[in-house]
Amino acid sequence: MYDYDVICIGAGPGGSASAMRCADRGKRVAIVEARTKNGVGGTCVNRGCIPTKALMASTNLFASLKTAKALGIGVGESAADFKAINRRKNAVVNNLSFGLENFLMKPRGIDVIKARGRLLDAHTVELDDGREKRSITAENLVIAVGSEPAYIPAFHIDGKKIVTSNELLDLTSLPKDILVVGAGAIGLEYGYLLNTFGVKVTVVEMMPNVVPVLHEPEITDAVLKSLTRSGITVRTGVGIREISVREDGMVRASLATGEEIVTEMALVGIGRTLNTADIGLEAAGVQTGRRGMIPTDAQLRTNVPNIFAAGDITEGPQLADKAQRQGLVIAETIAGNEFHIRYDAIPSAIFTEPEIAMIGMTASDAEAAGIRVMTGMLPFTANEKATAMQRTEGLIKVVAREDDHRIIGAQIFGAEACDLISEFAVAMENDLKLEALAFTMHPHPTLTEIVMEVCKRALGLAFDRS
Ligand SMILES: Cc1cc2nc3c(=O)[nH]c(=O)nc-3n(C[C@H](O)[C@H](O)[C@H](O)COP(=O)(O)OP(=O)(O)OC[C@H]3O[C@@H](n4cnc5c(N)ncnc54)[C@H](O)[C@@H]3O)c2cc1C
Repeated sequence: MYDYDVICIGAGPGGSASAMRCADRGKRVAIVEARTKNGVGGTCVNRGCIPTKALMASTNLFASLKTAKALGIGVGESAADFKAINRRKNAVVNNLSFGLENFLMKPRGIDVIKARGRLLDAHTVELDDGREKRSITAENLVIAVGSEPAYIPAFHIDGKKIVTSNELLDLTSLPKDILVVGAGAIGLEYGYLLNTFGVKVTVVEMMPNVVPVLHEPEITDAVLKSLTRSGITVRTGVGIREISVREDGMVRASLATGEEIVTEMALVGIGRTLNTADIGLEAAGVQTGRRGMIPTDAQLRTNVPNIFAAGDITEGPQLADKAQRQGLVIAETIAGNEFHIRYDAIPSAIFTEPEIAMIGMTASDAEAAGIRVMTGMLPFTANEKATAMQRTEGLIKVVAREDDHRIIGAQIFGAEACDLISEFAVAMENDLKLEALAFTMHPHPTLTEIVMEVCKRALGLAFDRS
C-alpha cells in the first residue's frame, strides 16, 4: 500500500493542474514544492506570466496616459513610482500563490509539502526540507519540475548588472539604458516595459528577425517597425560573444561583428535550464533526451509506465497553457479516462503593445510541410472598433488547408491579440473550417470581428478591400 495514489513533484502549472484534477477524480494526492517562499504556482505565478502581466498593467496605463491627449483627455505630468508598481505586482503574485495553495489545493485534500523532492525508485520520493530527510511513496509520480534561467558562461550573469528575468522582476529603480539579449517573448515584453518608462533599450537578436519562433515576415516586419518607431533600437542577425561588467561598473557587450555596446545594465532574455538534473531520474529508471528533456508518449508517460512528466521539461513550447493541459491529460489518464493535448494547437502570446499572438502553422511552415493552403490577411485599420479606440496598428493572418478549409494557423499583431487568438484556438482544437468563424455572427463593434473578417477574406468574401 502506497502513501498516496499520486505525488506531483513541482507546483507550477503542470504539477498544480495535475494534482487538482487527480484530487477531483478521487485520488489521494501530495504535491511537493522545493521553494518554501514563492513556490506554489511555480515560475508562472511567481516569476513569469503573472508578475510580468501585473507589471504590464502599470506599463500599459502609463503608456495610455501619454496618448490620452489624442483622445481628448488632458492629464498632468504622469510619473511612475517603480517601488509602488513593484509592491502591487508582489501583492498580485502573493494573492494568487496563497489562493492556489489555500483555497484550491488544501480544500481538495491535497497535501502540500514544502521540500525538495528526489526519486529514490519508481514509487518513492525522498523529501528534503533543509532540516530533515524523509520519504513518501505513491502508485504514480508526476514530474513537473520546470525550468530556470540559463546561466550562459560567456554572459557573466551576476544578478545585479547583468541579470535574467528573475532579477529584473525585483528592480525598484530604473537604469538609464539597458541591453536586452533576445527578441523572443521575455526580451520583447521587458524591452517594451522599460522603454515605456523611459529607459533607452537596445535589443540584440541572433536570428534574422524578431520573434524568431514566428516564421511570418509580414508580421515580424510589422513588429520590428513598431518597436523601432517606439524608440527601441533593434539589431537582428547579430550574435553576442561576451558580456561583462567593466571596472567603471558599466556593462560591455562584444558583438560577433566586433562592435561593442556599453550600457548600465543587461538583461539576458534567452535560455532556460531544465530542472531535471539531480532529481533521481536514473534511480527510477527514467530516460532523458537532449538538454535533460524527458521524452513521453501522448499520455505524458515516461519510459517508466507509472511516472509521468509535464511542462517545460517535455517537448514543445515552454508555456503555461501547455504545462497545465499536460497536467490534466496525466490526471485523466491516471483516473482511467481519455484526454488529449494537441501540440498543433498551442496558443502563444507576447504582451507588448500592440500584442503578438500565434497558433499553429504560418503559411511558410505549411509550405515546408507540403500542405497547400489558403490564407487571409487584414490590417487592423479594417476594424471599426480598433479605429474608434485609435489602436489600428498591426495585422492579422489566418492559414487554412486548401482541400477542406480547416484552419491550421493564425498570427496576430494588434490590439488584444492575446485574447483574439483564442477564437482560433477553439477552431483548431475542434477542427473547424474557415466557414465556422466567417459565418458566426460576432458582436459589433468589437475587435473580434477582425477574426470573422479575416476568415471571410481567406474565402474571398471580406467586406474590406484594403
Ligand atoms: C518572465 C517569464 C514570463 C513568462 N510569461 C508567460 C506567459 O505570459 N504565458 C505563458 O504561457 N508562459 C509564460 N512563461 C512560461 C511559463 O512560466 C512556464 O512555461 C511554466 O511556468 C512552466 O510550468 P511547469 O509546471 O513546467 O514549471 P514551473 O512553473 O517552472 O514550476 C516548476 C516548479 O517545480 C519546483 N521544483 C523544481 N525542482 C524541484 C524538486 N526537485 N522538488 C520539488 N519542486 C521542485 C520549482 O521550484 C517550481 O516551483 C513565462 C516565463 C517567464 C520566465
